[in-house]
Amino acid sequence: MGATLSPTVQEPPLIDLRSDTVTQPDERMRAAMAEAPVGDDVFGEDPSVLALEAHVAELLGQDAGLFCPTGSMANQIGMRLLVEPGQEILTDQRAHVVRAELGAAGAYAGITTRTWTSADGIIYPQGILNMATPDAGPYMVSTVAIAVENTHNFAGGRVQPLPLLRKLSQQARPTLKLHLDGARLWNAHVATGVPLADYGNLFDTVSVCLSKGLGAPIGSVLVSSQGRIGAARVLRKRLGGGMRQVGILAAAGQLALTNINRLSQDHQHAALIAGRVAAVSDAVTASDVETNIVTFDLSGGPGDAASFASRLRNQGVGVSVLGKQEARIVTHLGISTADAEQAGELIARELQAGGW
Ligand SMILES: *Cc1c(COP(=O)(O)O)cnc(C)c1O
Repeated sequence: MGATLSPTVQEPPLIDLRSDTVTQPDERMRAAMAEAPVGDDVFGEDPSVLALEAHVAELLGQDAGLFCPTGSMANQIGMRLLVEPGQEILTDQRAHVVRAELGAAGAYAGITTRTWTSADGIIYPQGILNMATPDAGPYMVSTVAIAVENTHNFAGGRVQPLPLLRKLSQQARPTLKLHLDGARLWNAHVATGVPLADYGNLFDTVSVCLSKGLGAPIGSVLVSSQGRIGAARVLRKRLGGGMRQVGILAAAGQLALTNINRLSQDHQHAALIAGRVAAVSDAVTASDVETNIVTFDLSGGPGDAASFASRLRNQGVGVSVLGKQEARIVTHLGISTADAEQAGELIARELQAGGW
């Protein structure tokens, strides 16, 4: 086998902006978990899970939901529902489904991917539709689906504009099916005021994460039609994702949904940091920051992202490295306004000191 990864136990940074996955469940959430009614969810008997699945499906304007341990599993099941082994799905070259799910679409589902490039991460329907080769016969692989990410994580938390999503959906369907990786769809909804269902009903399958900015310790939900979710239960069990008295986690997810509107604070904190940094450095364009993610283009200076991140870590600020000269911060419910101000100050100083 390949390289050995040995996790080392170390203290997280004081102001941890590496990801919005680092949130800790608070006492209210732990209490809700302790009190949750549970049953065997593989038998469909866990009332807390059934309630969460129904609630999320309704929010997104779809018929039914399936609770999954991770967003990666929800995405992979969602795509497999639309694409048979040997068929093709199109997506962005920086999409989580092709960059951060460790080849699962190929390894487990036999799905072929082909990617488009978008400098700002936004979907431009005409170019995408021009790439598609549906019913390509025995000569070329047949395109059957498109996967869209909203917000777009590696494009700096970009919100996909509703008119473009509508255009893509209208022109692609019903020939092509559409999957939405909506890990942070909540952030798009809060940033724009577009109802979640107005996004959800443009797609055939949608995944959303409860464990990012909403603060649940674990959990994602896949939503789609009744029939597809029935098939999804089989696929989930096959992947080892059939969970038993998992209502203790669904209860945390249900409480996490009450945090949707507070995401606007995370967006303000990201804007605050971006504004402070953009005042002294070209590494950030403040107007690019639409939600809770800020990316740093460090190509204008002599150093690399790893040294930038390690110097900030020594000052108590956690930043993640996305590429050789690209770094990212993500705000979340563990970050106060004072934390954001302090982080903005320290990052700005570091950028100046490093020649960015
Ligand atoms: C976090 C994330 C996921 C799911 O990740 P898991 O760690 O598997 O829960 C999916 N898509 C995007 C865009 C993400 O940021």
